[in-house]
Formats: sequence, C-alpha cells, structure tokens
Amino acid sequence: SGDKEEDGNLTVPEWACQRVARLVHLNKKLTDAIEVLQEHAELRDGHQDYSRALAFRRASCVLKSLPFAVQDVRQLEGLKDVGGHVKRVLSDLLDNGSSSEVQEILNSSWYQKMKLFTSVFGIGPSTAKKWIDNELESIKDVKRNSVRSSDWRVIWGLAFFEDLNSPVLRSEADRFLSIVQQEAEKLLPGVIVQLCGGFRRGKSSGHDVDILLTHPKEGSELGLLHNLLLALEKKDLILIGHKEKSSFRQEILFQDFKLSMRGQLDHFEKWLGICKFPKSFQEQRLDSCLHNDDSNSNSNCLSDHAAQDLDSVKHCEHSEADTQTQTQGNSQLHKASQEKSSEGTVPTCHSLNESFDGTSYEPSAKKAKCGSSLDACPDDLADSERDWVARRVDLIIAPYSQYYYALVGWTGSKHFNRDARLYAQKVLGLKLTSHGLFDMAKKEALPSSSEAEVFHHLKLPYRDPEDRNC
Ligand code: ATP
Ligand code: MN
Ligand code: MN
Repeated sequence: SGDKEEDGNLTVPEWACQRVARLVHLNKKLTDAIEVLQEHAELRDGHQDYSRALAFRRASCVLKSLPFAVQDVRQLEGLKDVGGHVKRVLSDLLDNGSSSEVQEILNSSWYQKMKLFTSVFGIGPSTAKKWIDNELESIKDVKRNSVRSSDWRVIWGLAFFEDLNSPVLRSEADRFLSIVQQEAEKLLPGVIVQLCGGFRRGKSSGHDVDILLTHPKEGSELGLLHNLLLALEKKDLILIGHKEKSSFRQEILFQDFKLSMRGQLDHFEKWLGICKFPKSFQEQRLDSCLHNDDSNSNSNCLSDHAAQDLDSVKHCEHSEADTQTQTQGNSQLHKASQEKSSEGTVPTCHSLNESFDGTSYEPSAKKAKCGSSLDACPDDLADSERDWVARRVDLIIAPYSQYYYALVGWTGSKHFNRDARLYAQKVLGLKLTSHGLFDMAKKEALPSSSEAEVFHHLKLPYRDPEDRNC
C-alpha cells in the first residue's frame, strides 16, 4: 500500500553507509538468495557482471537494513536499490519458498566448481575458469594434475586447503591476538594492537584474522613488523608468508583513482601469510573477553554465542580480482596480490626467504624443516601428524596519523567501504581511503584522531563496527 511505500523511503537512507546493517536481521532468507546471484555475477567476472554484482549487493544491503520482514514485494516499492530483476526473484521466494533462478545457480556444477576453486588462497575467477576448462573437478584433481603455480599463496593454499577452508573461530582469533599483543608490547611498549575485519564486526567465525598495529608516537612503529615476525617465528607460529613494504608516498594521495576494486587496496606495510594455530586455540577460555576490542569487547563476546555464521567462510578477498585494474606506480603493493606474480621464480623453501623483500624476515625454521625440495615441502608438512591448524593471518602496520582511517578500512565490511568511498566522492567531493580523507581540490587532508571523527568528517552518523555489516 501507499503507506508502506512511504515507510520504505523514510526508513532507508540512500547510502548503505548511512544505514545500520547488522549480522542478524529480519530478511536473511532473502539476502542469502540475492547474495548467491551476486556471487554468481562476481564469478562470471565479465564487463557487465561487475556492475550486476554490485546491483545485487546494493539490493541485499537495503534488505538488511529494513525494520520489518518483507512479506510482499509491494512493500519495497520506491526503494531505488531494489530493481525489477531482484523483485522477480524475491516474489518467487515469497510466493514459492524458493527461487528457480537461485536454485539453478546453486545446482550448477560450474558454480560449485568456481566456488571451490576460488576458495583456494590466491586463486581468482580467471584461474578457476582455466582449471574448469582443463576438466579439473576437485582440489584433488588440481593437486594430482600438478598444476604448478609459482605463487606461494597457491602452493601453500592447496597444500593446506582443508585447514584454510575450515572457519577460524573467535576463540582462535582472540588467543592469537593476545600473543601478538604480548610480543608487540615487549618490542614496542605502548603499541596498539587491534583485531579488525569480520571479528571486529561481531562475526563468530571468519576466513582469516586481521590485526592492525600502530603506536601513538609516529615513526616508532618502523621495524616493528620485522621484529614481531621474528618473535612469532620463535614461538613456532609462522608457516609461510609475504611481507610487503609500505608503498605510501604523500603524492599518491592526491592522484586521482578510480573507485573500483583498485580502491580497496592500500599502501601500508603488511604481512599476508599463514600461521600455525595450536589446536588448543579452539578451546573457549573464560578470560577471552578481557583482551579484546577497546570499544566493543562486550558485544564481541556476546557474539560468541550467536554462532550463526559458522559455515560462512568466504574465499580470500585479496585475490586476482583486486589486481586486474593495476595501475602504474603501485607495483610494490600489488606484488603479493598478483596471482601470477614473478613468473619463473619458483619459490623453493629457500627462495621463499628472499621473497621477504630486502627487509629480510627469515623464516629460519622453514629451511631446517623442508630443505630445498619444493615438491615435498608444503605437502609433507600438511600430511604429517600435527597439533596445529593452518590459518590465514593479515598483519598491518599503520602510522598513527592514518590509524583511524586504517581502522575503518580494515574493519569493513568490504561493501561498507566501497559504499562509503563512493558516497564521499559523490556527495562530499572527498576521497576516502584507508590512509585518510582528502579534499582533492584544496590538496588538503582531514586528519582524525578517533573513528567517531572519521564519521564526523564524512557527515555520517557514527556506526559501531557491528552496524557496518552491509
Ligand atoms: P572474513 O571474516 O571472511 O575474514 P572480512 O570482512 O574480515 O571477512 P577480509 O578479506 O579479511 O574480510 O578483509 C577485512 C577488511 O579489510 C575488508 O573490509 C577489506 O575491504 C579490507 N581489506 C582486505 N584486504 C585488503 C587489502 N589488501 N588492502 C586494503 N584493504 C583490505
Ligand atoms: Mn578477515
Ligand atoms: Mn583479511
């Protein structure tokens, strides 16, 4: 009815970053279905598919913010993000309990294989397609057909596929975080160590652990990552990884950039890798609420019991899709993200050491354990009896002057960032990144010393991390 139309318009602001989007909402059945369409479009990865995927995402994002459970598509009239296609799917769902279009996708073997292959660390849609074209059906097939990748992520991602595709539990994230806190504090007293990503948004499980580090005394964070990695190595927590130097330069901030996948990447010094989490990390500890997020430890702990998204492990988001729009001048940043990085340089266990940039972090244990035989190396480790699980970890170092923008950027969700960045550009004429907020015309930065200030500069109501789950 007409009233409903008005309600819809009144309660749903135009931009996702202006709305509250929680993990638990009233239209989950509908958004799950729409997100299948989104994922399907993303995997097809054609020119129009990118914008189709985004359109599906926008629609599911609106549904997440509605204060009522949709029972009739007429309740959605006037919502500009919900188009005709989505409405057809939704009315199918509401009338018949399922959508034939969604079911068809879920049942298609192409979709199932694409989902499987892109869930390998470092594999994006284009390689997954090649594997399908080569008639590979399973991870076993991929391994058996000795698909030789020169990318360390793919080599180790395949060897530890099962581990990396079982959900990381909140207790594991908390236990690892507290070790990183301890070690970082020893190396740099006063260091700030913050769990980000999905866990900060209240998820009870995730595909990795994202940790952001900084120190109020700007500059003192230099060298921290190197030493932290040595400390973690000493504790036998590191399996393999790649350290990227900071590629941050003042000038790049004021260069124009397209608001595409490209805009998702940043220039911070970081380590993307795989850690060895002792199986004991999976046990709940009573004190796991004590060392948590500064602002929302209570809600984080409450979410332990929600356990409603335990099986929602996604594939790695920093995969090739991120790199296809690579621009010059960011080659350093992209090195680790490139699916087919450094063709020819086969990372044997020895040469893996070299890949840690000149700033050599040396995983010494690796040399001893696996000698120099690449073929035997990761698989032997994976097959051996062990009391640890391989887990994806991202460690990011931000200078304090950029920290709160980095915090927003690494907290996500990915769609929240995408939307906020587009909003900043279109509505405010400002450029938002994980490094800051910039007035391109005036060549001016708008510094922030809290997350609230970031939202304030953006003229947005402050949103807790739990409310950024669009
Ligand atoms: P999950 O629980 O499955 O890990 P997540 O939301 O934590 O989900 P991540 O891929 O770990 O997803 O990313 C966390 C946040 O950091 C996201 O908001 C993403 O936009 C951002 N991010 C991820 N990778 C990069 C990168 N290489 N550069 C900049 N930002 C990134
Ligand atoms: Mn994450
Ligand atoms: Mn991550």
